[in-house]
This record gives sequence, structure tokens and C-alpha cells, in this order.
Amino acid sequence: MNLSPDFHPYLKGLPMPELRKDPIVGRWVIISTERAKRPMETTQTIDRLESGYCPFCEGNEDDTTKEILAYRQRNTQPNAPGWRVRVVPNKFPALKIEGDLQKRGEGIYDKMNGVGAHEVIIECPFHEASMANFSEDRIREILWVYRDRLVDLKRDPRLVYGLIFKNVGAAAGASLEHSHSQLVVTPIVPINVQQEMDGAREFFGYRGRCIYCDMIHQESDAEKRIVLDTPNFLAFCPFAARFPFETWVVPKSHQSHFENIQRIEIEEFGTVIKTLLMKMEFALEKPAYNYVIHTSPLDVQPLPHYHWHMEIIPRLTRVAGFEWGTGFYINPVPPEDAAAYLRDRDVDVSQARLS
Ligand SMILES: [Zn+2]
Ligand SMILES: [Zn+2]
Ligand SMILES: [Zn+2]
Repeated sequence: MNLSPDFHPYLKGLPMPELRKDPIVGRWVIISTERAKRPMETTQTIDRLESGYCPFCEGNEDDTTKEILAYRQRNTQPNAPGWRVRVVPNKFPALKIEGDLQKRGEGIYDKMNGVGAHEVIIECPFHEASMANFSEDRIREILWVYRDRLVDLKRDPRLVYGLIFKNVGAAAGASLEHSHSQLVVTPIVPINVQQEMDGAREFFGYRGRCIYCDMIHQESDAEKRIVLDTPNFLAFCPFAARFPFETWVVPKSHQSHFENIQRIEIEEFGTVIKTLLMKMEFALEKPAYNYVIHTSPLDVQPLPHYHWHMEIIPRLTRVAGFEWGTGFYINPVPPEDAAAYLRDRDVDVSQARLS
């Protein structure tokens, strides 16, 4: 975002971020002026990167906020070198962990304080942009960090939902190239997840089964949309894919909460992610992409109707006026063709440029 300097005196800001609800469709937005400070910083960071400097690289720990969690070598100090994966609060958080929600109205409108968390998971100490170049073991550790953070944040009753996501490449919204992912924890369930949960609950209501479990069975039988099939995970291009090469990874056994994943499953999940990212990099020539983990809200017991999954979305097309205006997506690549292409790309997961 580039703001005109003339606008700066007008940007008075809010004492803290606010969640506001659109009273017509029920969509919440976050008004967070902290993020407005980011553009200049981003430009500077990119410049410094060109000169070889990166705040996420080992040795530059003083330039990030204080770490929340790190997997590090024995006898090393927090916020110092010796870590493998490191989690820090986002320097320009969309939401803040302090304070209470103070849910309130303003005439017909609803709002609450932007209480939540915004964390950055720095995935490696060395300067590497591509997760596909990591060893399977490193990817497993990163996935285990995701689990650890959700388990920890679950204890805070103000927090309802944790979204883990990754932006790779400028077209996918990444401002730093050093491989990292993010966690945003919100005091409400995001609308995209709520829609999935509502649809899944409705299906469960009349069929008595989880729709994701049914989907796994049908896709396994049909085969044509499968990208990768392992003992505990199925990766496939969804029937109604919004984007070319959109791929979902779903655990085959019914699990509503990602944070309940077992070590043995993480082992396999790490290999699946490594394989898929290698296939995508190879097939699509290092595309910009996003991935998200959709899981159940932190504050609910295991659900029979909702099933956690990861969605990987290469950013090959632009979301433009028609999509914004309608919610329709035009996908130029049939998911059956995308799946066949990805399925046929042979990759060797033992290849890791950097461990
Ligand atoms: Zn770096
Ligand atoms: Zn299920
Ligand atoms: Zn989803």
C-alpha cells in the first residue's frame, strides 16, 4: 500500500485494532492502522535484502521481536544464534494479544477490540526462499511448530480460531523472501471456515457422515483428481477447484483439529508437503503460492462433521473484478488435467539443497 503523504495527517488511527462486522453479510473485517506503517518498512527491507541483509537470518535476532518459541541446539540462549525454527510476534501485527474484547454496538453495527495474535514462523536460520529445498525433517519440525503454537494458544479463552498460512512470492503477498509462515489467531471464526463448517454440518445432518471423509473415498475410487496417495493422506485437486492447480491435502482418518495430529502422522505429512511443493516448483516453474491449514476452532471439542485439511493455491491467475463482484472464480485448468500433470512429475524427496 502506498499512501499519499498528504493523507498522513488524516490517519489518526485507533487506540487498538478493531474487528467490525458487516451487518448485511456477517463478514468481519480488521481495522488495524499498525499495518499502515508497513509499506515504507517493506520497501526498506527489500532494499536491504538486495544488499544482502535479512532480519530473519541467523545472527540478526536483535532485529526481530523477542522469540515466543524456538527449536534450538542445547546450551544456546533465546534470541541468539543456534536455532533451527523460530517463532516471533509479527512486527506489524494485525491483532494484539493484550486487552479484552469489549464486545459492543454502535447503532446497528457490532464491533470488538482486535484481540488476537499474529506470529511469524521463521523456518530456517539460513537464507532460503523455497520450502521445497528443505529436508523432510525440517518440514516436519515446521509442522510440529504449528501444532505447538495452536496447543499453547488454545489455553487463552479469548482466542477462538488459529489460521496457519504461508505466502510465497510477491504475487502471493510475501514481503520477505526468507522462508516463513504465519499464524493469525482471531477472537471469532473466520467466515471462510464458518461456511465450510456450516456446509459440512448440513451434510452430516442428513447423511450422518463427514463430507471430507466421503470425498476421500470418492476421490480414491475415481483416481482422476489424485495427485498423491499415501497411507494416511490424500492430495487431490478438488472437483470445484477455484484456481488452476489448487490442491488439497486431507488426512484419511477423521480428525477435526490439526493440533491433535500425532508424531507418526507428522512424519508422513512432512514427506507429502515436500513432494507436493517439489512437484509444483518443477511443473509450474517456481510459482508464487499460498497455503492455509483449515482446522476446527480452538475452543470446541472434536467435531464429527468437520475435517482439517491444507489448501495449496499457486497464484497463476489474478482475482479481479468479476471474482470480487460475484464470488465466482473462473478456472482455466480443469482439476483433472492439473492433477494428471502433477501426478506425473517425478521428484526425489531425498534431494534437499539445504538441511
Ligand atoms: Zn534471510
Ligand atoms: Zn472426516
Ligand atoms: Zn478449506
